[in-house]
Amino acid sequence: MEKEKIEFVKSKVRNIPDFPVKGIQFKDLTTALKDPEAMRIMCDALTELYADKGITKVVGIEARGFIFGAILAERLGAGFVPLRKPGKLPAVTIKKTYTKEYGKDTIEIHKDAISEDDVVLMHDDLLATGGTMVAALDLVQTMNPKKVYVNFICELGFLNGRKLFPADIEVTSLFDFEGE
Ligand code: AMP
Repeated sequence: MEKEKIEFVKSKVRNIPDFPVKGIQFKDLTTALKDPEAMRIMCDALTELYADKGITKVVGIEARGFIFGAILAERLGAGFVPLRKPGKLPAVTIKKTYTKEYGKDTIEIHKDAISEDDVVLMHDDLLATGGTMVAALDLVQTMNPKKVYVNFICELGFLNGRKLFPADIEVTSLFDFEGE
């Protein structure tokens, strides 16, 4: 995907200082989502990254990971699995509590959502400290899929969230906010 297209998308992301708590520069992707051209570029770029990886399940993290997670699953010919906040999923689940850039959270996934034959793509909108995705990865790994990929629309590179992932897990994002 050409750099200028990705830069166009990045220019559409709105920065909100001190949200939800003082000191956080919140990257508001809704301003990119509402732009049809930015939306198409993001969908095409994500599809291009994973088209030849044999992905069978896309795991989207509640709630912002559901948007592109579901689109990607459909485009890749894969199934979609929601990873949700506690108490939302009706069948037997496994769960994990973790620390975020701001505050604590718990995530949950259906115990039978992933099988050992699956090639899994895990998706969320943004990589900050990495706490959310690493907890999600731990949950998915307990189901022993064949392979797992991790993807974000964007990352806050200066927080070094990538360092938390094991070396054999390929982590991608479309663009980085270097302390911006
Ligand atoms: P983390 O676990 O620290 O990597 O946080 C990632 C999750 O929190 C993602 O689901 C993001 O949507 C959200 N998040 C954390 N920090 C920010 C930020 N500065 N701007 C926008 N979303 C954020």
